[in-house]
Amino acid sequence: MGDQLDIQHSWFSRPDPGILYIIAELRRETDYVRHHIQKLCAFFAAMEAFAEALRRVGHEVLHLTLDDTARYRDLEGLAARLCREHGAGAFEYQRPDEFRLLEQVRSIDPGPGVTVREHGTEHFLLPWEEIPEHFRPGKARRMEAFYRGMRRRFGILMDGGKPLGGRWNYDRDNRRPMKAGDIARVPKPLLFENDVLPILKRLDRHGVPHFGVRADLLPFPVDRDQALGLLEHFLDHCLQHFGRFQDAIVCSGEHRWSLYHSRLSFAMNARMMRPMEVIKAALARFEGSGGAVSLPQVEGFVRQILGWREFVRGVYWANMPEYQEQNVLEAYRPLPGYFWDGRSGMACMKEAIGQSLEHAYAHHILRLMITGNFCLIAGIDPAEVDAWYLGVYADAVQWVQLPNTRGMSQFADGGLVASKPYAAGGNYISRMSDCCSGCRYDVRDQTSEKGCPFNSLYWDFMARHRKLLGKNPRSGLVYGSWDRRPEGDRRAVLKRARWCLENLDIL
Ligand code: FAD
Ligand code: SF4
Repeated sequence: MGDQLDIQHSWFSRPDPGILYIIAELRRETDYVRHHIQKLCAFFAAMEAFAEALRRVGHEVLHLTLDDTARYRDLEGLAARLCREHGAGAFEYQRPDEFRLLEQVRSIDPGPGVTVREHGTEHFLLPWEEIPEHFRPGKARRMEAFYRGMRRRFGILMDGGKPLGGRWNYDRDNRRPMKAGDIARVPKPLLFENDVLPILKRLDRHGVPHFGVRADLLPFPVDRDQALGLLEHFLDHCLQHFGRFQDAIVCSGEHRWSLYHSRLSFAMNARMMRPMEVIKAALARFEGSGGAVSLPQVEGFVRQILGWREFVRGVYWANMPEYQEQNVLEAYRPLPGYFWDGRSGMACMKEAIGQSLEHAYAHHILRLMITGNFCLIAGIDPAEVDAWYLGVYADAVQWVQLPNTRGMSQFADGGLVASKPYAAGGNYISRMSDCCSGCRYDVRDQTSEKGCPFNSLYWDFMARHRKLLGKNPRSGLVYGSWDRRPEGDRRAVLKRARWCLENLDIL
């Protein structure tokens, strides 16, 4: 499968002519949601490159393109036919990391006399079997406690039993906005030029639905060498400022979309590289940098991979399939049309959606605090929000996308992932970005027709969900300042919010 491209997997330790590896492009995989064209190309190109890499070291590989598999609507039919045709004695697969696919693969009946065996993917740091010990269905678990446990378990950034440097968390030192001088110094991103014209033609030939900006020369890494090259580029140019600017939002400057982020998520999610090798490379660079890379920078990066990435996977598997239906805040509004073309008058939204459509990528804070925050406070149906996030980003695979979107950003799980909703008004965006100065709306205004929609929608969201959020020790505090405002003021804010909600499509 497209997210099982790990040449270091024990399956591939030595060639065996009795084993045929099958890699297949499938219509069911291109069509379960509408995808960004670059996401489709990235997975198909990486699968092709992987087939080639396996062949080069002597493995038998059958790489099937859409032309070969179009007749088969599903994996079950295709697998059974191939087992028959090749007279297979055994059918073996790596356990898919998406619930939908796991169900499909487990339902394959390869025919009489063919044995079936499921293998682990050897990718994650928390073994599959241990997920139930750490994550219980419907029970909240905090990332910080999980992450500290993982640091201890793997002895990462530890000094005996204590965290190196005496602190587990450097968020307070990090998270700075960028000034003009900082923006000018953002490094040029490393972009590849993978020719995907034959794949684009194939997608067109089969009428595969898609959206987003086409790229004949695909900038994503599609093989292990390129993935390692991107890692090296990150260590050379970005790690030293990673934590400091990890929450910055920038609407100006050529490299505003990449900043100091690694852009390794696609390569890691497709399994071209393992999380521990990325962590070890960052640690080695920190240790060998003579102080150029500080502890807060490397800790910020390690936390994302050893902490968040493993954590959301645990939440996903402990709570599926019910998780994908959660809608605790009862949000049912449709996703506004500008999510598909970026044409919004809100400068920050235009930027975040525009980057996503152009690059099939946006960094975490754009996903969480701009588009995600907007959908949250506007009460957009999480099913529509999920479909957009799952389609638009090249790194989107459900085990990581769903808990991030439905959980962290939409709070639709009632707090299994996040201890409070990531809801914010224009003030936050103005503090963390340079977007507001170029916006049609006024970030200091909450009530007039020029008023920043984030302001009134934020208060309307808080007022709407007071019963639930008033009890939350982290969000409850803001109600004091709301209550102290004159009633006329509050009414004007809510009136502006009502107008915004009735006119979401033209904001
Ligand atoms: P960096 O900022 O360089 O971080 C390094 C690595 O840490 C990432 O490559 C990623 O593997 C990991 N990481 C960081 N944050 C998270 C997180 N919250 N959860 C899991 N891993 C994390 N990530 C995906 O890989 N696929 C998704 O479909 C996805 N959907 C998201 C949807 C929403 C609404 C939000 C708020 C976040 C989502 N994320 C997703 C998490 C995060 O935004 C991306 O992993 C990150 O932006 C990828 O860019 P990067 O490689 O430059 O990350
Ligand atoms: Fe976004 Fe509001 Fe700032 Fe405009 S004024 S960029 S809508 S936060």
